[in-house]
Amino acid sequence: MHPRPASAPPRIDLHAHSTASDGTLTPAELVRAAADAGLDVVAITDHDTTAGWEPARRALPPGLTLIRGAELSCRWHGEQPAVPLHLLAYLFDPAEPELAAELARVRAAREVRGERIVELLRADGVDVSWAEIHAAADGGTVGRPHIAAALIRAGLVATTAEAFGARWLGERYRLPKDDIDVFRAVELVRAAGGVPVFAHPRASRRGRIVPDGLIVELAAVGLAGLEADHEDHSPAERAHVRALAEHLGLLVTGSSDFHGSHKTVGLGAFTTDPGAYGRIVAQARGVSPVASG
Ligand code: AMP
Ligand code: FE
Ligand code: FE
Ligand code: ZN
Repeated sequence: MHPRPASAPPRIDLHAHSTASDGTLTPAELVRAAADAGLDVVAITDHDTTAGWEPARRALPPGLTLIRGAELSCRWHGEQPAVPLHLLAYLFDPAEPELAAELARVRAAREVRGERIVELLRADGVDVSWAEIHAAADGGTVGRPHIAAALIRAGLVATTAEAFGARWLGERYRLPKDDIDVFRAVELVRAAGGVPVFAHPRASRRGRIVPDGLIVELAAVGLAGLEADHEDHSPAERAHVRALAEHLGLLVTGSSDFHGSHKTVGLGAFTTDPGAYGRIVAQARGVSPVASG
């Protein structure tokens, strides 16, 4: 624990992954690492799953508040080919049937897609095994980082970043996911009492980005906020996101998007100001923040 002076603002990181998806710390290890990093609030936001919520809650160290969330794989069909994007969803009811069914469908489709990517690699003589990759994911949502880890184990690439290059999973062996339409996702998250925030909306270095016009439309149907401070945003992109959020009355967040050793960023590398955090909690109707006694 890192006690902080009473006058210091709380440190709030609203985007982190565990082994329930493509992070490398278990949910229990994640909350302990968050406390060790001096955070006061951490959100667990695994891709398309709430499986990490309970183990994170059970392991919650004193003084740390847990925000239960997820990062939904979405797609905008306003351009062809459709643009993939990520929607953070906080404090929604995980038992809401329509949203739960969509998440289950996306997870199942990720498995089919992962196996197809492995078939493409094997057809080119790359010796990776779906059974081994699937087993290594250990029931968590399967993603390209799990395949990247197999490429590293096989000695074919040195780093996850290299595995995401054009020669490998970034282009040549990249297949689309069966995602949720982003308008439907915003609607489903709100219907489940959750608070939707667009993850890294201007991260042009990750691929194609959506126009501001889409964000205007999403704000009109219930989008609550935009993630501005993120390692994949340049300073100019962060400033653009802040200005757009202010114009639309959306809240802004900052987060690490921690993935353990699958990425280099540390917990708390970017944080959210308490005012924006308070707005998220005030809008939530699904589940509550959890603080251990
Ligand atoms: P997928 O969800 O299977 O399409 O894989 C996307 C995930 O891969 C993202 O959530 C990131 O965790 C990770 N990722 C994407 N690009 C990179 C990169 N250049 N280096 C490391 N991890 C990446
Ligand atoms: Fe990820
Ligand atoms: Fe993301
Ligand atoms: Zn993420």
